[in-house]
Amino acid sequence: DAKDKGRGRLAIYQDGMMEEAVRRRRLEADLWVAVEKGQFELHYQPLYQLPDRKVCGFEALIRWQHPENGLIPPNDFIPVAEQSGAILDIGGWVINEACRQLAEWPDDIYVSINVSPVQLRSANILQQVTKALADHQLLPQRVEIELTETAMVESNGEIAAALSGLRALGVRVAMDDFGTGYSSLAHLRSFELDRIKIDRSFVSVSQTDAGAAAVVRAITGMARDLAIETTGEGVETEDQLSKLISLGCGTAQGFFLGKPVRSEQATRLARADRPATGGAAREIA
Ligand code: C2E
Ligand code: MG
Ligand code: MG
Ligand code: MG
Repeated sequence: DAKDKGRGRLAIYQDGMMEEAVRRRRLEADLWVAVEKGQFELHYQPLYQLPDRKVCGFEALIRWQHPENGLIPPNDFIPVAEQSGAILDIGGWVINEACRQLAEWPDDIYVSINVSPVQLRSANILQQVTKALADHQLLPQRVEIELTETAMVESNGEIAAALSGLRALGVRVAMDDFGTGYSSLAHLRSFELDRIKIDRSFVSVSQTDAGAAAVVRAITGMARDLAIETTGEGVETEDQLSKLISLGCGTAQGFFLGKPVRSEQATRLARADRPATGGAAREIA
């Protein structure tokens, strides 16, 4: 009866769940507005080639400039955007914006773009990438798509098909956060991969923990045999960087080398120590 229903409802919303549900609906609504009003921005974290420590690319990382709450990091809104479907619009914007930016940078710089499995399940992503490459006149090899290990391992045929579609375009595919998603090294052969990004949790302990170092060495060794490139994520100290170099890692990123920065600063980094080619030449002309 009504009394039972009332009691049930109370039970459902105990312990702040009501507030949580309201907060979530609010966030969801704000996200659609954010898409319309263009409140997102991309920051770029430099990727360094090893052992020479030269900037070779940037990872694009989204932030939301919320009118009241300031700059919101991706982990605070991407999961909601994935559930509401807003990620399809947001992700489409990210692809175009990262490619637009890349066209301003020297030709030997690449950009790496994070995508959600939700985007890969929609047929749209191939069109979005194809259009962005054409609109900004980019060689596809300069663009990399990152998908987390967890999403890749749990992926179905649709996601695998989208990834091979992207590779058929000439775009590169990276497995992000490797080591967090329970795939075995043997498993790696079954994915068509251009790069493995070794998760920060291994990088941060590799110089103190012999086990972690052995894992990183096994990953880089196997990757080399399979002609897959490796990037060490989350390098915070010189020790961690030299360890990665000695373990045979080809690329690194992390706060020690460079934090994510706005596009103007990324452009300065991209053009440092390089002849005036690509975007620089265009700007001078
Ligand atoms: P991720 O792809 O693994 O990106 C690396 C994250 O680690 C970034 O956090 C970066 O700022 C942070 N990081 C880099 N170096 C260090 C370090 O030395 N120490 C520590 N403690 N952290 C470091 P951020 O920007 O907050 O992004 C978090 C996650 O959000 C990303 O993890 C990625 O999975 C997701 N994400 C970011 N941008 C996008 C996007 O455009 N689309 C989608 N679908 N996901 C995105
Ligand atoms: Mg990433
Ligand atoms: Mg990562
Ligand atoms: Mg991560």
